[in-house]
Amino acid sequence: MDADERIFRNLESFSKVQFVLLKLGPLCNATKSRLFSEAECDTGRVKDGETPIAVNFSLIFQPGLSLLKDIRDGKKKTLPNHEKSAIRKLDEYLKVSEQHEKCLKKVLIRQQPLEKETVTVAVTEHLLGKLAPGGSCIINENGREMVCCQCGCNERPVYSYTGIGHQDVWHGYTDIVFESHDGIPECIATTQVSSLSSSCAILDQSSPAKRPRIEDDDEFGEDIISEASTLPAERTEDQAIAQIIVFSLLQRQKHPEYQHHLVPNIVISPTDFQIFMYDAVNDILLGSYPLLLFDVETESLRIESVMILWMVLHNRMFCEGIKVDELTDDFKNFDMKSHFRKIVGRKWDVYSTALSENISYFSPAKKRSSLTFDSNWFAKELTYKNTSN
Ligand SMILES: [Zn+2]
Repeated sequence: MDADERIFRNLESFSKVQFVLLKLGPLCNATKSRLFSEAECDTGRVKDGETPIAVNFSLIFQPGLSLLKDIRDGKKKTLPNHEKSAIRKLDEYLKVSEQHEKCLKKVLIRQQPLEKETVTVAVTEHLLGKLAPGGSCIINENGREMVCCQCGCNERPVYSYTGIGHQDVWHGYTDIVFESHDGIPECIATTQVSSLSSSCAILDQSSPAKRPRIEDDDEFGEDIISEASTLPAERTEDQAIAQIIVFSLLQRQKHPEYQHHLVPNIVISPTDFQIFMYDAVNDILLGSYPLLLFDVETESLRIESVMILWMVLHNRMFCEGIKVDELTDDFKNFDMKSHFRKIVGRKWDVYSTALSENISYFSPAKKRSSLTFDSNWFAKELTYKNTSN
């Protein structure tokens, strides 16, 4: 296959990318009716004593990496159609990557202030949408003005309803959904207007980075119906984790026949991106550290990053999940679960059987009624058995 030689030049760089294993904490609010933007995950790292446990990108994306190595080494001359079209997608992107790079920079770097929608449309039209296997790539239309790309190309992405989850538990809208040729959602993405690197709590060994949490029982504010359009960087992590857990559980519910259920959420900002993955069968939660989109010196799009995104978007083909039964002895009885199932307790029924997708509307959560005469006039009053006196 005649493909851009840059694809095969630096295959070793994949092994520099690591995912840390994460677990949820006691303050996780997955049992409550919450929008993704209000999700609290209370994450900590899965550790062996003091050592955090991680998984290498090249371990879980082994099928994708071997394919590229085999082509490079001339071991694979003819490819099945799906592999051929995946390579062609990357090849075609790289051939015009300078053009896309110009458009991305024009919007993401030069434009200030940036709106979330502007970022979403630019990364869809000039990066993720062009690298995805699809099918289609759908942008959340809920309550949003449909915009075209601000670089000047005037491309307009496909808008539709991206709501997932269930009203009684975590639910809400994902920014971008990538579908396979047969219309099955395979990957989601979340956009952010400010850089992710500053909020990199996950791999920052020195600080556990716990922010103050507000537990508000069942009281809700007025304006909870729509997702907050921009979140402070540190909240994006919780939102992304809640989304990917629900997305993976939904996929498991709809397609139990899949070989594995480790699926990705790409969190992308104008400068960098981070990948969260959840395996709904083995209850394993992964988070990468932020990776730069552009080279610091040359300001050009980093080819390593483009290839990682391409591989992640083609996860159904290139990722084989975590093969827990094949782990070495030191991990055999090791608890690497995120403990989502344990934390949600009796709400597991909802998460395992009642999730929905393509939701256009979530009704506002029920408010606690205040104590008024009207709300109490039909109350049943306590009575005593003996009322002689
Ligand atoms: Zn454009």
